[in-house]
Parts: sequence; structure tokens; C-alpha cells
Amino acid sequence: MTDQPSLPHQPDCLFCKIVSGDVPATIVRETDTTVAFRDINPQAPTHILVIPRAHYPDAAALSAAEPAVAADVLREAGEIAAEEGIAETGYRVVFNTGSGAGQTVFHAHAHVLGGRGLQWPPG
Ligand code: 5GP
Repeated sequence: MTDQPSLPHQPDCLFCKIVSGDVPATIVRETDTTVAFRDINPQAPTHILVIPRAHYPDAAALSAAEPAVAADVLREAGEIAAEEGIAETGYRVVFNTGSGAGQTVFHAHAHVLGGRGLQWPPG
């Protein structure tokens, strides 16, 4: 038995499996509440995903349930941008939300993208 309450977890969720270590990933930073790892199909020279350890299907659900953890995700995005050397040139933090916006993994995640020119508006 443990004193710690169990985190929301979905056994069939890819990103929950990365959190648990059942699926390997190139992890760049971890905190008590977040894990950050390199995207398997990078869309920019730096493309890192920051996720909460707990399972929420998207950023809106995360921020509604756990606003402090949503803030942790954003803070980690900024720390990663500084560490990766993309903060000075500019970078983008993206939360695709819903399949119509391109979300394919329904565990909340921030994309941190940089290292090349980024167009606006995005496609
Ligand atoms: P979404 O399309 O949901 O906004 O972003 C999901 C991201 O997860 C995509 O950029 C995709 O390349 C990435 N991804 C999918 N499967 C894996 C995986 O097994 N490992 C890693 N590191 N990234 C993945």
C-alpha cells in the first residue's frame, strides 16, 4: 500500500505508457508532475512534447481539473526552450485540441517547436 493517491491513468494510452516506462522515449526533463520527451516525428529541429503524468484527454480538461499542473506544463515548456537554445530566436507552444485541430493522442500535451522559421497562421 502507498500513501500517495493514484494518478488518473488509462492503460491503453500511449503517453501513459511513456510515463510508466512501458514505451521507450527520449526523455529530456521530468518533474513530479510532468514528463518531456522528443517527438518521434519531429516537425522542427527542436520538437519536444511536455505532458502531465496524469491522464487528461486534452489541455482544456487538464487545466479545468488541475490548473497547477497545467501551469507546470507551461513552465517546463519555457525551461526546455531555454535549454534547447530556441528561446532567443523564438519558439511555439501548441496544444492541438480535438481531432479537427490535428490531435491524435488524447493525453494532454504541449508541443514545443523551434529551431527554424515558423509561419503564421499555422496550417
Ligand atoms: P498530436 O497530433 O496529438 O497533437 O500530437 C501527438 C504527437 O505525438 C505527434 O507529434 C506524434 O509524432 C507524437 N508521437 C506519436 N507516437 C509517439 C511515440 O510513440 N513516441 C513519441 N516520442 N512521440 C510520438
